Amino acid sequence: MTEKDIYQKLTDKIMLTGSKIIPELFRMIVDEKEAALLLAMPGSPEELARKTGRPVDEVETACQSLYHRGVAFKSHKGGRLGYKMCRDMIQFHDATILWPEAPREYLDLWQKFMETEWPEFARLAVQVFPKAFTRIIPVEEAVEAGGQKILDFESANRIVERAEKLAVTKCTCRLIAHKCDNPLEVCIQVDNAARYTLDRGTGREITKKEAIDILRLCEEKGLVHVTMNRAQGGHFICNCCSCCCQALPLVIAEGLNLCAPSRYQARIDADLCVSCGICFERCRFNAIKPPEASGIDAYQVDSDRCMGCGLCRPTCPEGAVTLHETRPVDFIPA
Ligand code: SF4
Ligand code: SF4
Ligand code: SF4
Repeated sequence: MTEKDIYQKLTDKIMLTGSKIIPELFRMIVDEKEAALLLAMPGSPEELARKTGRPVDEVETACQSLYHRGVAFKSHKGGRLGYKMCRDMIQFHDATILWPEAPREYLDLWQKFMETEWPEFARLAVQVFPKAFTRIIPVEEAVEAGGQKILDFESANRIVERAEKLAVTKCTCRLIAHKCDNPLEVCIQVDNAARYTLDRGTGREITKKEAIDILRLCEEKGLVHVTMNRAQGGHFICNCCSCCCQALPLVIAEGLNLCAPSRYQARIDADLCVSCGICFERCRFNAIKPPEASGIDAYQVDSDRCMGCGLCRPTCPEGAVTLHETRPVDFIPA
């Protein structure tokens, strides 16, 4: 039996065994000595020095450099600094694409992976992890217009208002795919994620007002707010397009549960609707039916497809769209 290539072993560690491209991405970002150090993680620099037989100061410098590139993360268990390897494809993708010195060929190879290998891995991932990792948060105004009470962790405004630290990074999906001209610097990082971003130098600190301005700009552009799918609130607010995003195209085309809907769905008041079609153009999920398909003299929401993003509300000239609660609070995992 042949010894597995060290880059294959790194690929196995992030659960992408079988990928031809991921080992090449690792090869572009770390040399063999660094790969061995990653495989020895987790551990403090002293422990990693013992495991690899290298001097502690050399290991410390190498760990710091791997952290800067995004393949290693810091941990502070028991007050001691340690390092661990990125745990999955999402961390590897998000962190290393923001590596400030990433060469264009590295980003292009990521895009090749997303187009050729990722869809198959995503189909497997939703079977192994049935709970979606992310969830859509609705445009707040759309919920309020429906007379509903939005919860703290599904309100982008309140996530921002309660944050102790905020930063913004570039959208990694658009950075590699560049299929649209939507704004790049719109991924809002909250608290620990913001501290991580600022420590690594991969984003800039922003005020609450700047974060709110980013949210409103993204709503204007028709970008979908997405956060972590858990009730304690998220570390980020992504603002996704439906062309470059790693998840939404597969949600739309195949219904893959990579991103959960919000707890709300849109309704159109047929008496107010003047059939201008703006909501039809705005909806990224093909969830608005035109009069010829709805069978009435108004546009209508297809509840099988509506993800509750609320983007169809702010631009309706008649205020005919509102969001209504359709899922219970425990729809959002604790
Ligand atoms: S998930 Fe959305 S906002 Fe986040 S990086 Fe991808 S497209 Fe950009
Ligand atoms: S934007 Fe408003 S008025 Fe125009 S089609 Fe949609 S619901 Fe009707
Ligand atoms: S109809 Fe479309 S745009 Fe409106 S809330 Fe549903 S998914 Fe979003």
